[in-house]
Amino acid sequence: MNYKLTAAQIQDQIKENLSHHFGIGPEAATDEQFYKATAGMVRDLLVRERNEFFERAGRTGTKMVYYLCMEFLPGRSLRNSLYNLGLETPFREALSALGVNLESLYEQEVDAGLGNGGLGRLASCFLDSLASMGYPAMGYSLRYEYGIFRQKLVDGWQTELPDFWLPSGRIWMQEIPESSVEVHFDGHVEEHWDQQYHTVVHKDYTSVTAVPYDMFVSGKDGRGVSVLRVWKAQSSEFDMKQFNGGNYMRAVEQGAMADIITKVLYPEDNHLEGKSLRLTQQYFLVSATIQDIIRRHLYSHSTLDDLPACAAIHLNETHPVLAVPEMMRIMLDECGYTWEAAWDIVTRVFAYTNHTIMAEALECWSEDLFKLRLPRIYQIVEEINRRFCAEMHARGVDGYKVGRMAPLNDGYVKMANLAIVSSHSVNGVSRLHSEILKDSLFHDFYTEMPEKFQNVTNGIAHRRWLCQANPALSDLLDSLIGNGYATDARQLEKLLAYQDDTDVLKQMLEIKHENKVDFSNWVKRTTGVSVDPDSIFDVQAKRMHEYKRQHLNALHILSLYQQLRENPNMDFTPHTYFFCAKAAPGYYFAKQMIRFIAALAKTINNDPRVNQKLKVLFLENYSVTMAEHIMPAAEISEQISLAGTEASGTGNMKFMINSAVTLGTLDGANVEIHEAVGDENMILFGMTTPQVAELKTTGYHPNVILQNNPVARAAVEEIRSGFAGIDFRDLVDSLTNVDPYMVLADFDAYAQAQKKAVALYNDRLHWMKMGLINTAMAGRFAADRAIREYAENIWGASPVPEQNS
Ligand SMILES: *Cc1c(COP(=O)(O)O)cnc(C)c1O
Repeated sequence: MNYKLTAAQIQDQIKENLSHHFGIGPEAATDEQFYKATAGMVRDLLVRERNEFFERAGRTGTKMVYYLCMEFLPGRSLRNSLYNLGLETPFREALSALGVNLESLYEQEVDAGLGNGGLGRLASCFLDSLASMGYPAMGYSLRYEYGIFRQKLVDGWQTELPDFWLPSGRIWMQEIPESSVEVHFDGHVEEHWDQQYHTVVHKDYTSVTAVPYDMFVSGKDGRGVSVLRVWKAQSSEFDMKQFNGGNYMRAVEQGAMADIITKVLYPEDNHLEGKSLRLTQQYFLVSATIQDIIRRHLYSHSTLDDLPACAAIHLNETHPVLAVPEMMRIMLDECGYTWEAAWDIVTRVFAYTNHTIMAEALECWSEDLFKLRLPRIYQIVEEINRRFCAEMHARGVDGYKVGRMAPLNDGYVKMANLAIVSSHSVNGVSRLHSEILKDSLFHDFYTEMPEKFQNVTNGIAHRRWLCQANPALSDLLDSLIGNGYATDARQLEKLLAYQDDTDVLKQMLEIKHENKVDFSNWVKRTTGVSVDPDSIFDVQAKRMHEYKRQHLNALHILSLYQQLRENPNMDFTPHTYFFCAKAAPGYYFAKQMIRFIAALAKTINNDPRVNQKLKVLFLENYSVTMAEHIMPAAEISEQISLAGTEASGTGNMKFMINSAVTLGTLDGANVEIHEAVGDENMILFGMTTPQVAELKTTGYHPNVILQNNPVARAAVEEIRSGFAGIDFRDLVDSLTNVDPYMVLADFDAYAQAQKKAVALYNDRLHWMKMGLINTAMAGRFAADRAIREYAENIWGASPVPEQNS
């Protein structure tokens, strides 16, 4: 469906919204009021589109996709919505006639930061693709009152400020109180160990109301709309019985407890803290969601028997895996199913994606905590566990192996094991990662149920990351290869025909330069720091983590500084290094890494011997919006994790599509980027995954490396006794004693790769040719491709038939 709105109609509606909401006319309205009036109008359009699309999905019996994730990172909505609805031009005209610039309204919007990083952003990119390809889909998450914290550096030390996104973010939400559901906690269950699990009585529970708020993501050309339903926790009706019985505190406590559930997003990325509130959040999400899915199904069907034909439920990471025992609970306790019948249905509905092999991120809950908080769910997990183990023993599987695969083991609930046992499909997110799952992390499972294992390499919403973020490049592409790539990203390959066209390469260089100038101005405006748009823009933007090795980059910069300080007249291409990264607030070492980069930046940028040539910027508060600013300006994309640690990465894809050249290891999706562009168009360095494994086996001694590498040694020595007056002993000790992510082992190769990058860069036309080839080959990393693979190979879903077919 396509709304053909004229500028005049848009103007009338905006005026009406201004008058209705603010009692003000366009002459007196502020940009913020214009933004709200415009956003409100767009939201209402999306609501109408959603109604029409979901009605058509229902009428045609199209399978629904439910995507469960504790995090989504939508960023801003206004530009994406207008772009996808094809309404940017009439809105721009309508507003311009009222004396308002559409681009400055875009800048009014606060990011919806309901996620930490890659995981949440992937989920949001997927909602975009689902809508654009016409798959009816709902994402489910929590309406965190405070999303990911705002990062502020104080003397180089990260401090966390609350993210007040909600007051202005509400404009994008539709509250649906009539679809609220009750979630029960602390159910003391009567122990009826009846085989069918039918006769369970809840006594003395705490009940919390889950109120849904819908946000919308429009597909390209209005083909479909995805709904992101986020739940807010609210105290259920005031407990008059408790209150009258004199139990005042308990009556009030329940209300306070409820509010806390959706107060804040846990800011850990690739890390688990086994906190009771986190478990409560997880159960709150899945209980509300599963009740909602079942109610939606029973609205038009008389039984859950046909649920697997009508719905696919996707578990993005293990965080929502309690959806499985929750659905079992409802089917057993409330719908009268037998265990076998319920299990058969459940295991045909659920699929699971693993996103990390970091041991510290694999979720395990202490059985005691779990049992106390969710006794009935625990019983069901016990039964899942009992049956699974019995089946494995019956097959003759070795007892230790059964133990390693069991959902309950060693006093823990092992969430990944529960997810694999309960899902019909398990996938990793890049080819290398999926192989690692089969070869090591989930090897036991792979040998018992190989048919479950699949790979779906991640992808990005290329319309957001190329068409909207980089309009100049996108316009050039339109004129060269037509705009078919917007809906069929593989058409970007048509650009290959221009790889030796000097005229096109010059235009692309010009665009990159313009983007660098724009970005420099933005940096100057927001931070006060000047950067030279003629220097190399070398960017590492991602969460701060040892495995991502920002300290490898930083240590190398320090060694460059040493060389340049010794020899200020050496031949040196001006180079600006940008870092953007939040650290988990409790991750001390990552905060030390930030402090080191900040100290390095301060020292280098204030040293007149070098600061015309070398510059380092740490940009505070990395977000989707900042990423949209930086990707089009980047020239070198730093993807330097230790091989075998990054599941996929999606930042690497955003840089690539914007013609940056990857300087990286053979890790995650870098492997497939390398395969797409070849040795000549990517700067590869470092150990491979097998080499890392080999070195771990033979014994890794960072000190020996230092003895043999004077360049690395000089850099480490300079910080050993403090740098810029700050003690970095922890950093030095870690590097020289353990070096868990083998920074020093890859240091020399990294330094060579940096040299090679600069040499290539200095032949500008050739460098741009490399960039062109990267853009041309980025189509395979579109989220559209990933979603098609999920739909066809995992969900068995198809798009809603087009209106007139
Ligand atoms: C894409 C993105 C990420 C993920 O970056 P990786 O390099 O894949 O870790 C994190 N944060 C934001 C804001 C992003 O847009």
